[in-house]
Amino acid sequence: MIKLPIFTGDFTQQAPLPQAAKDAAARVLETARLHRYNLADGDDGDVARLERAYGNWQGRKYCLAVTSGGQAMQIALRALEAKNQKILTNAFTLAPVPGAIEAIGSEAVLVESDENLRIDLDDLDQKAKISQAKFLLLSHMRGHLADMDALMTICDHYGITVIEDCAHTMGAKWNGKRSGNFGHASCFSTQTYKHINSGEGGLLVSDDPKFMARATIMSGSYMLYSRHGAGPSERDYADARENSPNCSARMDHLRAAILIPQLDELEENIQNWNARYHNVSAALSGSKNIVQPIRPNQESMVGSSIQFRVPRFDDEQKEQLIDLCAEHGVEIKWFGRTKPHGFTSSHKSWAFVPKQNLPKTDMILSSLFDMRIPLSFSLEDCTQIGQIIAQCADRIG
Ligand SMILES: *Cc1c(COP(=O)(O)O)cnc(C)c1O
Repeated sequence: MIKLPIFTGDFTQQAPLPQAAKDAAARVLETARLHRYNLADGDDGDVARLERAYGNWQGRKYCLAVTSGGQAMQIALRALEAKNQKILTNAFTLAPVPGAIEAIGSEAVLVESDENLRIDLDDLDQKAKISQAKFLLLSHMRGHLADMDALMTICDHYGITVIEDCAHTMGAKWNGKRSGNFGHASCFSTQTYKHINSGEGGLLVSDDPKFMARATIMSGSYMLYSRHGAGPSERDYADARENSPNCSARMDHLRAAILIPQLDELEENIQNWNARYHNVSAALSGSKNIVQPIRPNQESMVGSSIQFRVPRFDDEQKEQLIDLCAEHGVEIKWFGRTKPHGFTSSHKSWAFVPKQNLPKTDMILSSLFDMRIPLSFSLEDCTQIGQIIAQCADRIG
């Protein structure tokens, strides 16, 4: 058997920030005006500029910058008056998604995942009917877009309002339309491992002025809401002004300043991610044990992470695969681990959500592996990583 190379790259190392981002951060620090409403005369501030730039880039009327993707979801749900009720969401997602639902006093109704890691539309239809839920918090987990045309048809049929969680689909499209432009409101994250990096941060977008007015007051604008970059007009605040609880989740100028230049590089980075994804994927397809999700033609994806399954492996072989890859410098995560570990997400470790029976999701997650693709890796690195995983898998089974 040929000896496998050892990969020496660092899986937690993100690409460097653009020089323009470092310069912008230095400029903000120089002023000491970090709070978004602490503005010098004649200056809009970086947070308002980010809101304008992102709203334009995304192609939605309004954009609100907040402290995290999770806060964007909580505020969106609150501003839609979705508390004290059942809310549909994906069983396969990250904990802040059901967390946002529970945080506003509502109850998550978990919808199964299909083998291509998208929400199962038959189960969605069923659960929409049975639960009578009026909201779907749709998570495009790990960047896999559902058939959005079919999904919106189902939701329209039941009168369900859709809120999109686009933490992994900033820049992705379904049938030429940007992810985040289907739902009534959509939430993005700028946490370090997402598509633009400010450590923590979130963006909420919508075309509904009254909703955005409520969300803006809830984000903690006090009566300073006119200082927003892509907000509704003064008169849209009439009802929201005094009726929206302040959840104190404002973004600050330092984070906004480093995000704006990254937006300029996003299209190029999407190409860079997809080229890397392609190389890992091509190498993985050399293994007889590895099954990859099908990516439909209508999907323009952002390959910032890759998922694959090893359906024929038992749990011991899956542990062996993790260990053998790690010995060769490759970190892969197993979503199906029975105990919560790192960022792995299983609905079984969300004890705050009522227990639900999800046999299909459990079966799929039990053999599902995941790997982030940082842009600090070269194209050759990505081929080598894919080859290591494929050969490790074929040594085991
Ligand atoms: C990261 C993430 C979030 C939440 O984003 P934060 O900014 O970390 O709160 C939501 N959904 C998914 C699928 C995520 O991966």
